[in-house]
Amino acid sequence: MVTLITLGALGVVWLWWRDTPSVQGTGAILTNAGRILGLLAGYGFVVLVVLMARLPPLERGIGSDRLARWHANVGRYVITLVTGHVIGIVWGYAVTAHESVTSQSVTLLTSYPDVLMATVAWFLLLGVGAFSARAARRRMSYETWYYAHLYTYLAIALAFSHQFAVGQEFSAHSDARIAWSALYITAGALIAWYRFLTPLLRAARHRFTVYGAAMESPDVVSLYITGRDLDKLGAEPGQFFRWRFLTRQLWWQSHPYSLSAMPRQDMMRITVKARGDHSAALASVPPGTRVIAEGPYGAFTPALSSRRVLLIAGGVGITPIRAMFAAIPKRMSDGITLIYRASHPRDIVFRRELNAIAADRGATLYYVIGSRRDLGYDPLAPESLAAAVSGLHRYEAYVCGPPGMTEAAVKSLRAAGIRRHRIHHESFDF
Ligand SMILES: Cc1cc2nc3c(=O)[nH]c(=O)nc-3n(C[C@H](O)[C@H](O)[C@H](O)COP(=O)(O)OP(=O)(O)OC[C@H]3O[C@@H](n4cnc5c(N)ncnc54)[C@H](O)[C@@H]3O)c2cc1C
Repeated sequence: MVTLITLGALGVVWLWWRDTPSVQGTGAILTNAGRILGLLAGYGFVVLVVLMARLPPLERGIGSDRLARWHANVGRYVITLVTGHVIGIVWGYAVTAHESVTSQSVTLLTSYPDVLMATVAWFLLLGVGAFSARAARRRMSYETWYYAHLYTYLAIALAFSHQFAVGQEFSAHSDARIAWSALYITAGALIAWYRFLTPLLRAARHRFTVYGAAMESPDVVSLYITGRDLDKLGAEPGQFFRWRFLTRQLWWQSHPYSLSAMPRQDMMRITVKARGDHSAALASVPPGTRVIAEGPYGAFTPALSSRRVLLIAGGVGITPIRAMFAAIPKRMSDGITLIYRASHPRDIVFRRELNAIAADRGATLYYVIGSRRDLGYDPLAPESLAAAVSGLHRYEAYVCGPPGMTEAAVKSLRAAGIRRHRIHHESFDF
């Protein structure tokens, strides 16, 4: 993927290069720097959109959490490129025309086609960037942040036409215009297909409907979803769907929840801890509620060829781990260990199911309950893990839990000698 993105960027540089005569003078240098930055920003928009188009090969191969991180990084680059483009063009034109930057800005805004719209797009992008900054993000709800983000699409639409109207590499070459349009149309079509049409078609085909709910602990509920041919969804243990429950209060939100048991032909299950308004409302979603389930997504799936598997779950991170634990083939039974970490006995869910799976597979199962202070040791320290699992360095490890716990576990596993590519973890926070 990185190679493909880089090749695309090189193609963009070539587009600029073939239309750039020898550059002389400060004005020309600034203007041409502005041009290449603008072209790269235009290409960056396409990359941004494609990363979030929920393309199955990317979701499955790279994983949604990594894609979200890449998207955030590319977003920062794009805003920087656009800002550099604006500065380069305005300053370069001002130097060439021997005018002030202010009067050149006015000329650009009033006399050049579509530049005003592109300027609005730039301000929208700066706004989205400010909203997405970590400090601002922490202060707002996920939904506010998410819907503010959608202004990026408006910014892309507003900025598009000025590229053809004033970009010399496009006005002079119809092949460049065709290739650039094809790039944008393809990105738009991917979004329309994978984010909107596919979920609707799947909902119509599989008829996802809430069957019932069962409380697993005071704040954790399992929801059973019935439907048709659910085993044909192609879900793998450890994967998740984005769930939209079509009730009056919840239809406008879609939230990711992992499968806590693999789909049977007519039933699947998710298990959710009440954390905020959506997750807390799920315990009272009435049976018969129709559901749009988008997925399956996620690269946090077990390599079923591994000979020894260590699973570490913290709190509600047990949900994908529970599905994996039941799916790992019996032939590995001498090498399956599950460590389930919780702060309090009431936080443990699926105890009966986990015990039964462990007995069936001859797997080792540890419940590690209580704070480090209560226990008197750190159960996720390298030496504790090595004492619990002999030959730890030969294991393939899967970790899912709160970010702090996951980070500590991954560090310890590395210190215990497991190679980085054999440690897999999932974050419940994008
Ligand atoms: C891949 C993945 C799998 C998950 N699986 C499970 C699971 O099996 N069981 C479970 O209990 N929880 C799971 N979660 C966490 C769950 O999605 C959030 O707890 C839930 O969305 C919180 O929403 P809320 O409105 O109840 O709380 P809020 O108070 O609105 O949100 C709490 C936090 O959850 C995150 N969040 C909120 N909405 C979303 C969203 N639409 N998409 C992504 N993150 C969001 C934000 O970081 C936010 O800070 C998973 C999360 C991810 C990313």
